[in-house]
Amino acid sequence: MAADTEPPTSVQARDGLALLAYGDVVAGCTSCALAEGRTQVVFGVGSPTADLMFVGEAPGFHEDKQGIPFVGAAGKLLTKLLAGIGIAREDVYVANVLKCRPPGNRDPLPEEIEACEGHLFKQIELIEPKVVATLGNFATKLLSGKPAGITRVHGQEQEVVLGAQRVLLYPIFHPAAALYTPRMLEVLEADFRRIPELIGRDAAPVEPAPEPVPVLEQPVQLGLF
Ligand code: URA
Repeated sequence: MAADTEPPTSVQARDGLALLAYGDVVAGCTSCALAEGRTQVVFGVGSPTADLMFVGEAPGFHEDKQGIPFVGAAGKLLTKLLAGIGIAREDVYVANVLKCRPPGNRDPLPEEIEACEGHLFKQIELIEPKVVATLGNFATKLLSGKPAGITRVHGQEQEVVLGAQRVLLYPIFHPAAALYTPRMLEVLEADFRRIPELIGRDAAPVEPAPEPVPVLEQPVQLGLF
């Protein structure tokens, strides 16, 4: 991945610092009730200039304790799947829709997603990944803005504009779903194998909104009549 092996440009270095600073701000977030039960905010981890970003659902028990996303069994599988396609985990960025652990690992509530989604959008804006792989239903529905579930749309990339950036959204199954289901693991591995090609694609730049065309008055021809 070129952007990760080449030295960062000054813009990338600035955005990397801005990401760190933003993480410090989010560490004190009290926008929803999950703040009361968390050990800490789990902001995200990885390369601030990553071409590939993963978005999961929410921190679990281990993530809440360690402050790092995807460190439990699902995270170990994620790291293994990445190694299988020749990508080191340090070269990608990993985050979640929710930055705080829901009690008992229950599903995120709509109001929690609404309170937290701005943090994820800001991370994407600063990292500027080429590909955002959404792991499971919650991340896929949020970032695609569509209700279609992961079973229907996994492995189908789509261009989306997030903020000022065009990214390739790539929905795939959550690794937790593949932990104990060999058939699911095969599907996930097959979807992973397409990732290097997706990163290599050139995204068209986002077209700026067209300037409003001034309505020209018909010139008044003076003095003819
Ligand atoms: N599952 C997730 O969705 N995120 C994590 O960080 C860990 C498990």
